[in-house]
Order: sequence, then C-alpha cells, then structure tokens
Amino acid sequence: MNNYFDEPILITRPLLPATYNISRKIGEIWDSKWLTNNGSQHQALEIQLKNYLNVDQLSLFSNGTLALLLGLKALDLTGDVITTPFTFPATVQALDWNGLTPVFCDIDPRTLTIDATKIEALITDKTSAILAVHVFGNPCDVEAIQAIADRHQLKVIYDGAHVFGAKINGKPISHYGDMTMLSFHATKLFNTIEGGALAFKAEALARKLDLLKNFGLANPEEVLLSGLNAKMNEIQAAMGLEVLKLVDEERAKRHILKKTYEQHLALLPGIRVLTTLEEDSSSYQYFVIEIDESRFGKSRDWLHEQLKDYNVFTRKYFYPLCSDFHWYRHLESTQRENLSQAQKSVGQVLAMPFYGELGISSVIKICEIIEELHISHKKWSDVV
Ligand SMILES: *Cc1c(COP(=O)(O)O)cnc(C)c1O
Repeated sequence: MNNYFDEPILITRPLLPATYNISRKIGEIWDSKWLTNNGSQHQALEIQLKNYLNVDQLSLFSNGTLALLLGLKALDLTGDVITTPFTFPATVQALDWNGLTPVFCDIDPRTLTIDATKIEALITDKTSAILAVHVFGNPCDVEAIQAIADRHQLKVIYDGAHVFGAKINGKPISHYGDMTMLSFHATKLFNTIEGGALAFKAEALARKLDLLKNFGLANPEEVLLSGLNAKMNEIQAAMGLEVLKLVDEERAKRHILKKTYEQHLALLPGIRVLTTLEEDSSSYQYFVIEIDESRFGKSRDWLHEQLKDYNVFTRKYFYPLCSDFHWYRHLESTQRENLSQAQKSVGQVLAMPFYGELGISSVIKICEIIEELHISHKKWSDVV
C-alpha cells in the first residue's frame, strides 16, 4: 500500500480565515463591549449576505436547525408536512418540535431530492406544507413543487443547508418557495462556526422571526409570543464576515477537484457522480458518489471500510433514512414499499473527501486507490 495517506483524510475541513484577521475582528467586538443581540458585526453580516446571495429578506440564527424550527413556527403550519426521508435528522426534527407530522415521500433516483411526481398522492386535508431538501447541491424540481403547492394552497419550505450561493435558471435558489433555510455549520461551504439563516419572501415574517428568536420580546417589558433563544452572536457574525471573503476562491478550488474526481472515476464501472449543478450555480457542498454493486462488483459498505486502511475516511451520507427513526415506526408513510428508491439509494451513497486544501494530487491518489481496490477485487474473484 504505497498510496497510503500519512494523515487521516476526512470528507471536509472547515474554511478558516487567518488568525490575524480573526483577532482583529475580536478586538473590534471587545472594544464595542457588545457580544450579542443584533450588534454591529451581526448587522454587517446580514447586509453582506443579502448582497452576496441576492435576497431581499434574510434573518440570521444561532444555527440552521433553529432557523428551520422557528421558520416553520412562523408560518403557523398545522397537521402533516410532506417531506423526504433522505436528509439530515435536523430536517424532520424541526417538524417534531413544532408538533407537525412528517409524511415521507420517495425520492428521485437522479437527484435524490423529493420525487415531485409522488407528492400529490400524499396530500390530504391535514397537509399544510411541503418541506423539501436540496440534496448535495442538487436543486429540487422547484417548478413542479410550486405548481402542486399552488393547486392545494400549501406552503413550501426548503432545507437549503447544502446550497449556499447556488442558482437555478440564473436566479438565487432561495427565490423558490416561501422560505429557504441555510446552515453555516463549520462543515458547510460558508461557516460561522455554528450558525444559520432563513431567506424568505413575505416582509411580515421579518418582525415575527425577530420576535421568535429572542423570547418573543418586543421590548424589555413586553412579551408578544412564545419564542426561543436562537440569536447569532457577534463572534459568529465576525467569523462569517471573514469567511465570506474566502468562499469564492474555495468554490473555484472545489470546482477543479470535482472535475478531477469525475475524470478519474469515469473509468470505473458502477460509480455515478451525484453533484451535477453547473459551475456558476453550484454550491460544491459535497462530492458524493453512488456505488452500484452489481456493476462495481463490491458494495458501498465494502468500499467505505477498505478506504479506511488507506487513511481515507468517507462517509455514508445521508444514512440512515429519517423514515427509519424508531419514533416514526407507527406512520403509514414509513412503509418500505412506499420508499423503495430511498431504501435503495441510502445503501449506495458515499461522500468523498472534498475541500479546497485537499488538492488535486490527493484526489488523484484517492481515485487510484479506488481503482486499485476495484482491480484487486476483480482479479481475486476471477481466480475463485
Ligand atoms: C447541516 C445540515 C442541517 C443542520 O444545520 P445546523 O446549522 O448544523 O443546525 C440541516 N439539514 C441539512 C441537510 C444539513 O446538511
């Protein structure tokens, strides 16, 4: 194994500004003696992100999960919400904490986002919204979803944790739907250590979200609704202002790595690349492949395990399906036959190491390892 990595290679690494730049920012915060509650860093980040993302309404939060949880709350949803089983637990847990019931819809084999052709059959008089996820930077079928929502007067919310800065048809991705959640977690393309935001259309929501993330306080003596504490603090916002300066360069680096992976993996049977957005519109959040065991010869789980011997730590992502959580077992929509594509895909996906600093030569090395594993396995199976 001469292509073993000396250091463990993980799927991502946080985008970090120079310590000098962060200390300067922290100096500003110390001088201001203002650490949270809509301080000057917070205000500056909100303005810069509105410009960068080209959205009119944007509200910052302490993390993406609370942004989604309170966004759903602000829309006054009731009953059932149609959603996807192929997502991170936060998507459905935001429903749980609002007392809303997920109705799981199967996914599109091409994009792994909710299968819009299967949504309508799940709508009942209890349905109040569709909560869809733009998976790995692949956008949902936004036009079809909006048409269904319009026909049935449903709200549309997107978990856009993977699509920072992505565009569809030249428009910012958050142009679609009533609301889009963004995550600024350390593992995301753009990070504020922990953090998140909601981009939305209705101006009236801005005031409500401000109340919801700050205990419902209109002023120190007036509590207008039952809220939470979900405010982004000044250090998070300062981090965001510095990281934002690095995002375009990081995206450009990831673009080259994506092309390198694609060129090399195309030579292997049974491997499909899932991140398909075009270069000017992609978020490059993850680089994910799908292993078709019948053509590759070995399973996703096998490859995932074998790569560890080379110090390469890929991740089964997303895994497990949210519809398999034990607290949903009683729901009719979690029946396996309703979710056959999701059940299949969840056994095939593998997120590969993907961050600018990784560099082209490491990507080539990872591809060569996969090739070597594939060939040695084939030789072995020819003998037996
Ligand atoms: C990261 C992520 C979240 C959670 O965001 P946090 O900012 O970590 O709370 C939600 N949904 C998806 C799809 C994610 O990838």
